[in-house]
Amino acid sequence: MYPLSTAQVLQILAITIPLTLSSYMGLKRRTFGFSLIPWLTLSSSLLIYDFNLLVLTSVFTSFLLGLDYLLIYRRRGRDVTEEVKVALGLLVSSTSLAILQVGNDLGVNLYFPTVFAFLWILTLLTTIKAKVTSRMNSSPRMALGLISVGFLTSLSLAISVDFFQVNPTSLSPLEFLAPSGVGIIVDGMGLLLGITSSSWFMVMIGVWLGVGVMDKIISARKLENRVRLSLMFLAYWVYSIYLPSFSPFSSVFPEVPYSWFNGFGTFAPVEPSLLLGILGTYLVTAVLSYLFGSRQICSVTCTAPYMLQGSFVNSMKTFNRSSPLGRRTLTSRLSPWFKVISLMVWVNIAVFAAISYLNQVGVTNFSVLGDDPSMFLSSLYFNLIWYLQFLMIPFLGNYSCVTSGLCGWGTFNQLFGYLGPFKLKVKDPATCLSCKTVDCAKACPVGLTDMRASFIKKGEFKAFKCIGAGECIEECPYDNIFVRDGRVYLRKLLGRGAVNG
Ligand code: SF4
Ligand code: SF4
Repeated sequence: MYPLSTAQVLQILAITIPLTLSSYMGLKRRTFGFSLIPWLTLSSSLLIYDFNLLVLTSVFTSFLLGLDYLLIYRRRGRDVTEEVKVALGLLVSSTSLAILQVGNDLGVNLYFPTVFAFLWILTLLTTIKAKVTSRMNSSPRMALGLISVGFLTSLSLAISVDFFQVNPTSLSPLEFLAPSGVGIIVDGMGLLLGITSSSWFMVMIGVWLGVGVMDKIISARKLENRVRLSLMFLAYWVYSIYLPSFSPFSSVFPEVPYSWFNGFGTFAPVEPSLLLGILGTYLVTAVLSYLFGSRQICSVTCTAPYMLQGSFVNSMKTFNRSSPLGRRTLTSRLSPWFKVISLMVWVNIAVFAAISYLNQVGVTNFSVLGDDPSMFLSSLYFNLIWYLQFLMIPFLGNYSCVTSGLCGWGTFNQLFGYLGPFKLKVKDPATCLSCKTVDCAKACPVGLTDMRASFIKKGEFKAFKCIGAGECIEECPYDNIFVRDGRVYLRKLLGRGAVNG
């Protein structure tokens, strides 16, 4: 418990009162409580200055944000002005809290939150009559706005918690916060990397997007998809958050095995003692991808599918077909750009990993912005570039990590998935021939629009970029598609032959 100065109490009131009043003016009663509760709880957590309360209210705010986005998704095509205002309200209150928190930690009495609060009134007053009636994904600008609001709210909540807990429970405990002296842009990038790599950020964005994932699990028709989505949910919370950051193992084995298990050579330096583990990880994941396709990573254990496959973000796959850049990545063809980018990424990984290793054995002493080269590359990709792709979905299409070749971990597993038995098959190619809707191709989050032609010609579809999300299986109105993978070996071993294989 920290005592608050009178000035800080006044600031908190200055946030709460105008936000409450303006929300009452701007929002219908239906959504008033929705936005009022987090404002009050967030402010009171600061008044009481209790870490657990702050975490609890931040998680609660993320959850409300998730519900709000689910409503936006469900009401697409109808007026969503109220829901958008709630999202904006949550953004402003979270950002105000973050600014206040950073100010407190730095010992600076900041008055920005007050300014922010009044900006919020202004926003409401200007949007009070505007109706957000356009279809949720009809305009890339609106989609970008919505996805940015959710992202920035999660970021602000994580900043509050991370700054409160000066030494956060984190994969990378804000180590980038120390100014490198290289310049404001690099320092700003370092700050962003520090926050997005913190486990609290993963928690906040995970709760926001998790509501959509739960919705997806509940609405999945196929048992196989329901199982996959549930595994994806568990992998995110247990494997990516609990084990490396909150479990007793995290302090006993800070770098083994989950810290380097991302295929980028890693969230730890390439030490000789870890070499076997790193190569073993590549081997295990290559075998799994060979047997079950790259879906074991790109649709289950990577944190990306969790963020991309919930109802709200998943619906943005329409931009794979409508955005100019997204259209270029359609079909299973690997464009020359895909090949060049993935090759460059792999050269990068190999060079940075080799330098990291040489540093560890004392041959070289090379760092990037004061950090181990391999760790820097890993963090740069997964904590910055990946989120930029995420925000740019309305312009790049969904799953651009898969469609652009920018993820070395993805292309490694896609290669072994492609070499293995994993493929999509249809029960009857004639059904596809007479099919009018081709819902399978429309449902694909990666934009593999050429599957129908392959189904008609060969009765099956196999593609390097196929991540086995199974949405085509879910959407085919004739229940025509099924997956064939390494389970055929198992069936043969058990002497049952390959079912439909
Ligand atoms: S391509 Fe990379 S970031 Fe994208 S889902 Fe696959 S492993 Fe994850
Ligand atoms: S798989 Fe289903 S949705 Fe796709 S073309 Fe065939 S019948 Fe149509």
